[in-house]
Amino acid sequence: MSPRNGRRTGAHRAHSLARQLKTKRRRRDLDEIHGDLRPENAARLLRQEPDPDLPGCAQFYCLHCARYFVDLTSMKEHFRSKVHKKRLKQLREAPYTQEEAERAAGMGSYIPPKKVEVQTQPLEEVTEMETSS
Ligand SMILES: [Zn+2]
Repeated sequence: MSPRNGRRTGAHRAHSLARQLKTKRRRRDLDEIHGDLRPENAARLLRQEPDPDLPGCAQFYCLHCARYFVDLTSMKEHFRSKVHKKRLKQLREAPYTQEEAERAAGMGSYIPPKKVEVQTQPLEEVTEMETSS
């Protein structure tokens, strides 16, 4: 009878696989968020159809952090938080990777980046909702 040498633990392997899958669903990249901040996209994101699968039915969305909030209070709190302020700063400093890449590839129609005014989205509409309820 030969003794089995060593127990093979495949546990950590399965673990790292799970981790890989998880990182696949990462948060939006800064340059994606730059796209979201364009007025036409921002308007769409801030007026989403109520979606019961999302926190707060998708009615409280922070454009800059690509995050949904359960209610106005938590969104306001988030706007005052360090995470959000840090994100605004990051967005101001982020390079225009996408447009730079397009220009490098000679895709023509290069639109020079306008100076982005990155600020917390206005809350007037949501505030109205709050007072009426
Ligand atoms: Zn935010």
